[in-house]
Amino acid sequence: MGKTVLIVDDAPTIRQMVGFALKGNGNYDVVEAGDGSEALEKLKGGLKPSLVITDLNMPKMDGITMIKNIRKMPAHKFTPILMLTTESLGSKKKEGQAAGATGWIVKPFKPEELVQVVGKVIK
Ligand SMILES: [Mg+2]
Repeated sequence: MGKTVLIVDDAPTIRQMVGFALKGNGNYDVVEAGDGSEALEKLKGGLKPSLVITDLNMPKMDGITMIKNIRKMPAHKFTPILMLTTESLGSKKKEGQAAGATGWIVKPFKPEELVQVVGKVIK
């Protein structure tokens, strides 16, 4: 059975690109959420992803707030979380790590880079 990756981004094109890359290049199931609050609902509903990949700027609930909330959930205290950042958001990397993020992927990225990073993070 494939491992599940939760991709959280308000841009459908990014969710599709991540989904396409991970479904095509590895044994991953991909679940999508359009913002932080939608992602938290899915986790509270029992979703147990092996990895969460999240955008930072999103409506309703941003990525940093979502990461803080995920780390408060006992079931997801150690779930790897990768942030999608742009170079111009360099200061957000530290903020994200302080909130509990495992690492980051800089946008724009190639599908094969994403697959490589995901393979390193998911044991
Ligand atoms: Mg966004």
